[in-house]
Amino acid sequence: MFRRVYLDNAATTPIDPEVVDAMMPYLTNKFGNASSIHFFGQETRAAVDKARQQVASLIKCRPAELIFTSGGTEANNLAIRGLIEAQQTSNGHTLHIITSAIEHPSVSNVCEDLEKHGVRVTYLPAYESGVIRVSDVEAAISDDTVLISVMAANNEIGTLQPVAEIGKIVKTLRGEGRKIWFHVDAVQAAGKIPLDVEEIQCDLMSVSAHKIYAPKGVGVLFIRRGTRLHQQNVGGRQERGVRGGTESVPLIVAFGKAAELAEERLKEDPQRLGKLRDALEDRVFEQINDAVLNGERETRLPNVSNISFSGVEGEGLLINLDLQGIAVSTGSACSSGSLEPSPVIRALGRNDDLARSAIRFSLGRENSMEDIDRLLEVLPASVENLRRLSPDKK
Ligand SMILES: *Cc1c(COP(=O)(O)O)cnc(C)c1O
Repeated sequence: MFRRVYLDNAATTPIDPEVVDAMMPYLTNKFGNASSIHFFGQETRAAVDKARQQVASLIKCRPAELIFTSGGTEANNLAIRGLIEAQQTSNGHTLHIITSAIEHPSVSNVCEDLEKHGVRVTYLPAYESGVIRVSDVEAAISDDTVLISVMAANNEIGTLQPVAEIGKIVKTLRGEGRKIWFHVDAVQAAGKIPLDVEEIQCDLMSVSAHKIYAPKGVGVLFIRRGTRLHQQNVGGRQERGVRGGTESVPLIVAFGKAAELAEERLKEDPQRLGKLRDALEDRVFEQINDAVLNGERETRLPNVSNISFSGVEGEGLLINLDLQGIAVSTGSACSSGSLEPSPVIRALGRNDDLARSAIRFSLGRENSMEDIDRLLEVLPASVENLRRLSPDKK
């Protein structure tokens, strides 16, 4: 029988059956508008409140500090644009953002757009390790710096960034009366490593539901009490007036349940996935020559492995594996369709050959050692075949 193996959990995860069960009543008889005063509204309002507590518990904040959004992308937009616009209205001079060269497009493209509107942006290098340096952050801070936005974990190579150290720097500066804030895109980190907004000392943090076994289309932005953002989605008074629009109760309930499960499984899931990931890498490097790991080995998520197979076109390998029932992604999942190598892999200083041949394997709750076995049954021969066919083989 043709069994499909899904190794693309960093792109999205399957929905946990418990999450489906939790949201089902809100797709059927519990349909009220959470802003309505009557019974139907109270019922869904209570469900939204509960979900807010569940998500708050995952990142250790107060429920009132969370704003539900349509996903990680909107949370990142709200955080960055909202903060910059709030500062722009109160003073006229140039504003400066510090971010990394390996952020998700929902951060980097927002920054690039703001640059067109007079905001100065520094993109910190990630070096071969895929980890930015705290000393570079310190060196980049200037009098006009109002925002530092750095992801907790990278979505393509899984490397963890020194966010708690950056948080410390920002807190010290704020203690000195400086107007500077810190945003963390924690979409990939959530559910894989413990997250605590007090430990990281960030002012803003984004999380998305569909990367933690809930449906697509819902996310959250943590906004530390007292942090002023300019409203982006202008409408009604929902979400404390920060984000207008009738709450998607089923999706929010699903997100809450997924957050609760992620917190419960925060020890066991990452441990198990780390073992699978290590087995995958051991066997790949043993059986395939000229395979190179992208990003630092130690400081990274337990479930992501990004490997370049010299002499192979990444897209070609992806399609070849797909024909054999194995789903992976190239380094450039978010820009798939373009033949340009991933900007993230590029930022590591990889040459054309290695940049174009990067493949991301990302594991999830449903994977087992059998999936790794299956991958290793087909991967070495696929790489071999593509290398033989390659026009520029050595
Ligand atoms: C997936 C992802 C996002 C975007 O989240 P959506 O809910 O898909 O909009 C943002 N940042 C990172 C790091 C991601 O992996």
